[in-house]
Amino acid sequence: MDKVRFSRVLLKLSGEALAGEQKFGIEPATIDQIAAQIADVAKNGVEVVLVIGGGNIFRGMAASAKGMDRAQGDYMGMLATVLNALAVQDALEKNGCDTRVMTAISMREVAEPYIRRRAIRHLEKGRVVICAAGTGNPYFTTDTGATLRALELKCDAILKATKVDGVYDKDPAKFDDAVRYDTVTYSEALEKRLGVMDATALAMARDNELPIIVFNLYAEGNIRKVVDGYTIGTTVQGGN
Ligand code: UDP
Repeated sequence: MDKVRFSRVLLKLSGEALAGEQKFGIEPATIDQIAAQIADVAKNGVEVVLVIGGGNIFRGMAASAKGMDRAQGDYMGMLATVLNALAVQDALEKNGCDTRVMTAISMREVAEPYIRRRAIRHLEKGRVVICAAGTGNPYFTTDTGATLRALELKCDAILKATKVDGVYDKDPAKFDDAVRYDTVTYSEALEKRLGVMDATALAMARDNELPIIVFNLYAEGNIRKVVDGYTIGTTVQGGN
């Protein structure tokens, strides 16, 4: 198969990816390792939009299960994504990358407000654009925020970096006979609840035919491989 090098990608990192072994909060060594991988592709001329989750700090749905108002918890979750964005910005700049954090909830003292045309301009100038605060609305996730930004910023694909090396028919941590898909359609991922992304994000990607590539973040150099068009992990596309 011919390799297709991506020119503009959206990289989605879960909050947990930043926590390393500790599972909670931010682990500087882990962030540095991720930032080095991102800096490598950015310096090679690939335009990178980053969307980072907040699950390592706060999840609205978990708080609401314990009695907190859902919307209130969700706003807290969105603020958590801003903390992560600032941490990753710091690490990227230490790796020699020019960056901008743009937030869906205004906080001008720490980051720029998200303005689509400005974001595109930053990308064209070679800056890594970190989109924080998800969609800016409660009842959504950062996966949906990532899909939204990938579409409006015309990214070639969403690269969903995870702890596992792709999408399996069942949880590989629990079942030895779990089988990894090389490709899977959006509808199959939705119907079988394969856990690629939440249903809102998947439906949006499906309706706009935006490919999602799920791959292992912790294997050194994997981001580069995906961007360079090597087929690793699982690609969600087609079947529309
Ligand atoms: N969130 C939200 N609207 C958004 C994006 C995120 O309300 O558009 C909140 C929601 O409470 C979510 C939390 O922010 O649980 C953290 O994001 P997410 O769970 O997507 O992070 P991840 O699982 O990727 O770490």
